[in-house]
Amino acid sequence: MLSTQGYAAITAKATLQPFEFARRDVGPHDVLITITHCGICHSDIHQARDEWGGSIFPMVPGHEIVGRVAQVGNEVKTFHVGEIAGVGCFVDSCRTCAACREGLEQYCDTGMLLTYNGRDQDGQPTQGGYSTQIVVDENYVLRVPSALSPAGAAPLLCAGITTYSPLRHWGVGKYHKLAVIGLGGLGHMAIKIAKALGTEVTVLSTSERKRQDAMRLGAIDFALTSQAETFTKLQRRFDFILDTVSAPHNYNAYVHLLKTDGTLILVGAPDRPTPLEPFPLILHRRRIAGSVIGGIRETQEMLDFCAEHHIESDIEVIPIRQVNEAYERVLKGDVQFRFVIDLASLK
Ligand code: NAP
Ligand code: ZN
Ligand code: ZN
Repeated sequence: MLSTQGYAAITAKATLQPFEFARRDVGPHDVLITITHCGICHSDIHQARDEWGGSIFPMVPGHEIVGRVAQVGNEVKTFHVGEIAGVGCFVDSCRTCAACREGLEQYCDTGMLLTYNGRDQDGQPTQGGYSTQIVVDENYVLRVPSALSPAGAAPLLCAGITTYSPLRHWGVGKYHKLAVIGLGGLGHMAIKIAKALGTEVTVLSTSERKRQDAMRLGAIDFALTSQAETFTKLQRRFDFILDTVSAPHNYNAYVHLLKTDGTLILVGAPDRPTPLEPFPLILHRRRIAGSVIGGIRETQEMLDFCAEHHIESDIEVIPIRQVNEAYERVLKGDVQFRFVIDLASLK
């Protein structure tokens, strides 16, 4: 077993603290990655605080992982020692169901094995990227193109793919008008990726102070969701709306902003349901849909797309001892737009 340093939530009520644990030895198909950077996703906070229920403790969060390959198993074909590699939200799946065979491992019939807050085949809890190293089967490791900086690429492993996948699935592109609700980690990646796809993006936000950033990131318009006139002015404006908001909110108000046949895509994952009004959907044949991250093949495609289009995340790099403060700042929307932990600070 490989002794590993990390930061863990010991219970849902605890702040994160130093934690030593064991990774499995490198098997024939495994890649050992020395982690250099890990993004802080709002899902880390939801899970570390057990807001979705069923969390496994102690929990080392982190699923936006980038590092250097330190060792490979003797059957590994696709990775070599010294390469920059990434790990996203899952580290295994059944590999045999229709979804897995199609490269949609995130929709695996038996459930993807989460990078942390999951249990592997032996029933052992998985632990994430707020740690010095990770051992992952090569089929679930991504190649980080050299055009991307490791720190700026880390958030692509979740925030990047979570916004790229639905935009590609629904064919969002030129001639479409897209609204992005919530300008946080996911929201800022959605603007960059949609712009690269040729789409006109409007940001709908609760924070006036983010107006300049929205325009700098490539939006063509910005409107406050606290103002009633936003909902009259933008009625039936959009082909698609991507909702990245982390807290419970009223979806129905946004349905009115869709054209006939428009789609509201939910990626934000609040911990409580909200009521649904049927008429705004019925009367314009509108849809509400959801999407979770992306498969391995599509995640690689997204990383290559970002390298080609010079897209990285806007980040604030922190040492790991600031992780608890960073969580509080994420909850206040006080980050532009993703914290990334420098894991050299843990050694
Ligand atoms: P984040 O950086 O905290 O951004 C969330 C944004 O939502 C905030 O910046 C804020 O934007 C808006 N917001 C927050 N509280 C709000 C409230 N009470 N009312 C209205 N707007 C509010 O979080 P993130 O990392 O982007 O993650 C966003 C959500 O997506 C989380 O729930 C996360 O768990 C989920 N997620 C889902 C997937 C998936 O696969 N579906 C993957 C990753 C994350 P404004 O200031 O602009 O209003
Ligand atoms: Zn995430
Ligand atoms: Zn499967």
